[in-house]
Amino acid sequence: MKLTNTLISKAISKVVITAAIAVSLTSAAFAAEQTLIKNVKIWDGTSKNLSKTQDVLIEGELIKSIGTGLKVAADVEVIDGGGRTLMPGLIEGHGHLQMNGTSLADIENNRNWEELAVRSAAKAKMALMSGFTSWRDAGGMGAGLKKSIDSGVTDGPRIYPAGAFLGPTGSHADFRNFTTPNETFNGPQSSGARHGMTVTADGVDAIKAAARQNFMQGATQIKIMSSGGVASAFDPWQLDAYSAEEIRAAVEVADAYGSYVMSHAYSKKSIMRCLENGVKTIEHGFMFDEDIAKLMVEKGAYMTTNMHAFSPYLGDIEAIKSSPAASRKAESAVKAFTHYIDNVKKYQPKLAFNADCVGFGDSCLKQTDHEIYLSAKFFGNHFALKSLTSVPGEMVALSGNTLNPYFKGPLGVVKAGAYADVLLVDGNPLKDITVIGGNKKWFDAKSRKADGIKAMRLIMKGGVVYKNTL
Ligand SMILES: [Zn+2]
Repeated sequence: MKLTNTLISKAISKVVITAAIAVSLTSAAFAAEQTLIKNVKIWDGTSKNLSKTQDVLIEGELIKSIGTGLKVAADVEVIDGGGRTLMPGLIEGHGHLQMNGTSLADIENNRNWEELAVRSAAKAKMALMSGFTSWRDAGGMGAGLKKSIDSGVTDGPRIYPAGAFLGPTGSHADFRNFTTPNETFNGPQSSGARHGMTVTADGVDAIKAAARQNFMQGATQIKIMSSGGVASAFDPWQLDAYSAEEIRAAVEVADAYGSYVMSHAYSKKSIMRCLENGVKTIEHGFMFDEDIAKLMVEKGAYMTTNMHAFSPYLGDIEAIKSSPAASRKAESAVKAFTHYIDNVKKYQPKLAFNADCVGFGDSCLKQTDHEIYLSAKFFGNHFALKSLTSVPGEMVALSGNTLNPYFKGPLGVVKAGAYADVLLVDGNPLKDITVIGGNKKWFDAKSRKADGIKAMRLIMKGGVVYKNTL
């Protein structure tokens, strides 16, 4: 039996650990020089159809060429795709690897740094083993997890971290308890703030300092909370949290770093204000309509929306179920967001996948699988698949030439020069979304192992095989 790269990588890791050699392990270093994935139909991340059967040659961490009768090195490693579908690895457009409790209050009150850190490493591995080879993090503890993955300490997707999300006092970013005094008046910080997960920043100067601090600590983009949320304690979702001046302050710092701002925004007023003041990606965007669609095109902006907000199971989310205020907010939000799906169908914005799971383990696998199903159900498989691949691939590149950690080629597409982040699946995802995990059920879904999407036969990131059941 041929050794897979993962096995080789594991074997080498073992040798290095027993020899206690203090070297930084880079997964990519163990990628076979050349790998030929033969006999596959390709979905390239954008096309409406699969290609005819051909071969994909990978050299190091990039795709070198695609075609038939390709010239290969004598020691090329060959994988026979057996006529299956090769597609780009999935990209989470808005997730939280380091937020992993049953609710925001649980994360705030019951989880210390070591539990959060261990859980986040496990969650990153689960994401990769579910086919997510890249991940835009919408707020978490910082770049430590990303660095650990990139250096081969633990397995996970490529991460674009936002670091601590910024919001004003009492906003969606304020994790303190009702009884906690304001920090400004010598009150303690929230645990979330101490962990570098969230930062309360009121006014232009505080926002600029917080954004600079995030970049200093390895953020690739800045996340702000410009409107209220549902699962948080103090803010109505309609809250117009940041002024135009405050939004511009964050954008100004991001511009100076060649990067961009992503903003949590529900209400139309907040969304329009963000776009008018330079925010490049709207998170959630539930009041999306014709005016917003036009402005997004004019500004070259993107949107990520968690479709489970429209799921009949919404009220069963622990973070909502456990809080009467959040349940009430969810009810009023659902009523206000009734036109979202029709408007997206009509105006076809650049929409990226957003599972937004702040839970852990099984609950996030189920939420993500259901989110994939809903995206396909609402907008069709082709649109959903683009939102999981090429669209977030473009979106993460907004972090710019200097800050983009993965700058050697595009992500989310299968073409020569792109990163060799690919999946091999049984069947055609354009016709059957279950082959990448899509599941009609949510909380009542059968638990699956992290690598238990049976139809997903091969997972490769940067030329390294992490799963191979061929
Ligand atoms: Zn989020």
